[in-house]
Amino acid sequence: MRKPLVAGNWKMNGSVGSVEALLEGIKAGMGEIGNTSVAVCAPAIFIPQTQARLQGSGVAWGGQDLSIHAAGAYTGEIAAAMLLDFGCKYVIVGHSERRTYHAESDALVADKVEMARKAGLTPIFCIGETLEEREQGITEQVVARQISAVITKYGVEALGDSVIAYEPVWAIGTGKTATPEQAQDVHAFIRSLVAKESPEIADRILILYGGSMKPDNAAELMSKPDIDGGLIGGASLKASDFLAICKAGG
Ligand code: PEP
Repeated sequence: MRKPLVAGNWKMNGSVGSVEALLEGIKAGMGEIGNTSVAVCAPAIFIPQTQARLQGSGVAWGGQDLSIHAAGAYTGEIAAAMLLDFGCKYVIVGHSERRTYHAESDALVADKVEMARKAGLTPIFCIGETLEEREQGITEQVVARQISAVITKYGVEALGDSVIAYEPVWAIGTGKTATPEQAQDVHAFIRSLVAKESPEIADRILILYGGSMKPDNAAELMSKPDIDGGLIGGASLKASDFLAICKAGG
């Protein structure tokens, strides 16, 4: 039985004051969350504050990106060891905004998944097709290519300690959500791809849905057999909405 995970992706949002209020709001509502793991992925500069507020709260935290290098002359980058030093459990890897705006290739994303995993972080490995790719009918080809970039280079074991987030790019921040059936079909396909290499990893790996998940659609999405939670952008910035989605996880 997979325990659902709901993870917030704050992206490049927040201030010291708003982060304080958001974290206090989330903590205050944690008593009402059932059997769902909860995490927030903060901008790097707010990770120390997030750690200080969330320690002992049952909410985990993480980063939004990491370097493929361990340390050294890589201005502006954040190393896995630094995230670990500040108590991070998770790190988002290969978000479509990084693939698009920072030209992250499948190969680079695979290296980041491996770097995170080797260091002891849980990568939240993001995959998903653009609107154009969906309209061309190549969604499965796209997610297969993104996953096989990891499996071919590092083996299916690299996914053994990972979380996959299926995030159709056309649904991110657009208010358009994949229907529960559309999402379930792709999630089942992703699990079948992993199962070809390792039925055991396929059975336990969490596959989150991301893309305009909100309090009013979360329960239906997460009721699908292969949807194990959500990666939440916009709705994770409001404690009441985020908590409502966490509650929908069960
Ligand atoms: C995301 O960026 O990971 C995301 C799912 O965003 P939103 O919920 O705002 O669509």
